[in-house]
Amino acid sequence: MAKFVYDFTEGNRDLKDLLGGKGANLAEMTNLGLPVPPGFTITTEACKVYLESGTEPAALRAEVSEHLEALERQMGKKLGQADDPLLVSVRSGAKFSMPGMMDTVLNIGLSDASVSGLAAQAGDERFAWDSYRRLIQMFGKTVLGVDGELFEEALEEAKRAKGVVVDVDLDAADLQNLVAHFKDIVAKETGRDFPQDPREQMDLAVRAVFDSWNTDRAKLYRRQERIPGDLGTAVNVCSMVFGNLGPDSGTGVAFTRDPASGHQGVYGDYLQNAQGEDVVAGIRNTVPLADLEGIDKASYDQLMQIMETLETHYKDLCDIEFTIERGKLWMLQTRVGKRTAGAAFRIATQLVDQGLIDEAEALQRVTGGQLAQLMFPRFDLDAKSQTIGRGIAASPGAAVGKAVFDSYTAVKWSRSGEKVILIRRETNPDDLNGMIAAEGILTSRGGKTSHAAVVARGMGKTCVCGAEELEVDTKSRRMTTSDGTVVEEGDVVSIDGSTGKVYAGEVPVVPSPVVEYFEGKVDAAAADTDDLVKSVHRLMSYADSQRRLAVRTNADNAEDAARARRFGAQGIGLCRTEHMFLGERRELVERLILADTDADRDAALAELLPLQKADFIELFEAMDGLPVTVRLLDPPLHEFLPDITELSVRVALAEARKDANENDLRLLQAVHKLHEQNPMLGLRGVRLGLVIPGLFAMQVRAIAEASAERRKAGGDPRAEIMIPLVGTVQELEIVREEAEQVIARVEETSGVSLSLTLGTMIELPRAALTAGQIAESADFFSFGTNDLTQTVWGFSRDDVEASFFTAYLEKGIFGVSPFETIDKDGVGSLVRNAAAAGRATRPDLKLGVCGEHGGDPESVHFFHEVGLDYVSCSPFRIPVARLEAGRAAA
Ligand code: PEP
Ligand code: MG
Repeated sequence: MAKFVYDFTEGNRDLKDLLGGKGANLAEMTNLGLPVPPGFTITTEACKVYLESGTEPAALRAEVSEHLEALERQMGKKLGQADDPLLVSVRSGAKFSMPGMMDTVLNIGLSDASVSGLAAQAGDERFAWDSYRRLIQMFGKTVLGVDGELFEEALEEAKRAKGVVVDVDLDAADLQNLVAHFKDIVAKETGRDFPQDPREQMDLAVRAVFDSWNTDRAKLYRRQERIPGDLGTAVNVCSMVFGNLGPDSGTGVAFTRDPASGHQGVYGDYLQNAQGEDVVAGIRNTVPLADLEGIDKASYDQLMQIMETLETHYKDLCDIEFTIERGKLWMLQTRVGKRTAGAAFRIATQLVDQGLIDEAEALQRVTGGQLAQLMFPRFDLDAKSQTIGRGIAASPGAAVGKAVFDSYTAVKWSRSGEKVILIRRETNPDDLNGMIAAEGILTSRGGKTSHAAVVARGMGKTCVCGAEELEVDTKSRRMTTSDGTVVEEGDVVSIDGSTGKVYAGEVPVVPSPVVEYFEGKVDAAAADTDDLVKSVHRLMSYADSQRRLAVRTNADNAEDAARARRFGAQGIGLCRTEHMFLGERRELVERLILADTDADRDAALAELLPLQKADFIELFEAMDGLPVTVRLLDPPLHEFLPDITELSVRVALAEARKDANENDLRLLQAVHKLHEQNPMLGLRGVRLGLVIPGLFAMQVRAIAEASAERRKAGGDPRAEIMIPLVGTVQELEIVREEAEQVIARVEETSGVSLSLTLGTMIELPRAALTAGQIAESADFFSFGTNDLTQTVWGFSRDDVEASFFTAYLEKGIFGVSPFETIDKDGVGSLVRNAAAAGRATRPDLKLGVCGEHGGDPESVHFFHEVGLDYVSCSPFRIPVARLEAGRAAA
């Protein structure tokens, strides 16, 4: 028969599923011989039965009676006994902590009959009536569903009537009157009297805790935190101890190490003559835990001893709640405590040094998310910092500069030594130079995968996007905030890409020592190096020794490639060649697109060839000896042409003046011809290569010639040619045939044999579904999970995050955007199946991923699990990917 109740002496910390986190740890402490007030835990199984059937399991009542009797024997008094009542607390405690979501009732067992018994035992009349008052208030609110405001108002009224401000100035008689008043409230609001039978109080409180699992706020919290809805909560029934029995009593919280820095020492707060809720309510000021030594040395020494026991036992930082009742120390709760990112790294390596855990365990104690936090420069905020807006935290970091509203000014000002923030409604490829020149980018439209966000993340540049309350007026070069503040060009603004906040004026910035370490500017071995850097270094080395996934970078210039290499990149997984066609070269592309004759087209291609070749030479040099995946041109052609509206207006105005020029008219015609309603589903990727003769051939030739040249110069170039947006193997076959001819010609003329491989992106559902066929013609697959997510969900990657994703996240439809963390069930299952189908055709098929997910911690674990060979991500996310790949493998 199922057992629904466990005495604290029966459980242990491994029973969190059954006893909840709090119950399991109370049991663990009890068994360690620590002073825990005796009690028992009603299991999550009992809760589940109740939630499913609407009534408690039949056996529960008798089991509770049995454990209650045992508790009464142990305490030498009965629940609610008139002359000396045993009082208990009834607290929720689920497997995962759900702070503030669920219910607790203290002082169960007090009644009209036992309140004077408590007063006599405690020798404190006021204390007894105050405890009774608290019980009716808490019970009335959480168990009987009375509006808590009614009790608060009555309390305020009692204080007003007496002319006092704080609760402690109410004496026993006042509180006795208040109890009568509270009882009237309960009777009036619920149509029944406050229950005087202690067992009935307890049973109703237990049921209320069960019910609190399914309140709207608890459900919402679980959806957002991805806690399963069917776990149920356990209920802890614990004998009461009181910290409010005079100056030799008190309550406090303690940490076995500093949760902020990770350093060892005495950390916590203590409040004399108080109960737990008083600390939270902030009625009086707490003192630092160290002061307890002066207040009650014996309890302090015992607490220090217990903290050491707990840390050695849990092998981790623990946080603790304790109460001192007339000089006797009681432990009310412990758990492995939350900590900052820096503390997590320090503590993990300290514990290794103390011999408490090994390196594999240490690696599980830190996360890529924490490492990412350590890599951003921070704002040193103070009271003067003025927030003027908030957008989406698109690319983390802290950036300060003068507001500029166009790329031209951004470049011009930055050349003259100014730091600038580029502010646009949204960015497009034309803004690239401005983005490079700026310290940070702020847009009022677009989500986490908007152009601004993706490119900024790629550059490791701070970006806040979609700050909709900011009105950006690029024409008049100003931005207006929702409260009417105007930021003019040249005014200083500060943007925080980790929080999405925008500030007026300059907020001071502190650089990250961890980035300086990855950059090679800080030596981890030097004696005076911060112990945080040393911890990061140790854990990174260990992760590298464990991981199976290689980590490459998405980079399309030598500078990014070199930085990525310093950060540990093992090659380039995605070079987006479209980024090489911007700026001055755009005109050449325009000519290519508009060419009427083969001769015109060939002339444009001939001019582009040496430029492309020079790009590749630089890139191969920066990544010498490592693979470089070069993707042939991908984006829709119209991105290289002038804006259709602007051009139409220009031509119309010129026509009205009767001086329209032939070129503009032709251009407008072409722009119209190429205009698409859904450019992301239009003429892009391999479709371009098949429609514009010579384009892909030129790019392949540039890659081949650059490789030959590097080889002749003694280098070791390892280019891989990648075809984007393939939907069917036929597309790939045509491109492959042409590419092979081009490569053969280059090999012939250069006399260098080139071992170039050719593969494809898998970024359309059809490609994933026919991966077995596509692998016939591909040496490698690289999953483009940005487009794959876009096309599998039918979500426009450039729009949805700023439009309805907030609503989706709030409703808990997903806990995180599928553009950020791979949707394992949908997109992920296509990746898994395509990887398997590809390998079935070609066992040596190399598999990687180059969508944004390649640098997302949770997604990295998924890619490890489905057996990819590498992930590729922006340079700044490489350390995170290395760490997570190590954690996935360890
Ligand atoms: C992708 O679609 O995942 C990808 C890497 O390509 P891009 O983001 O350039 O479309
Ligand atoms: Mg793509």
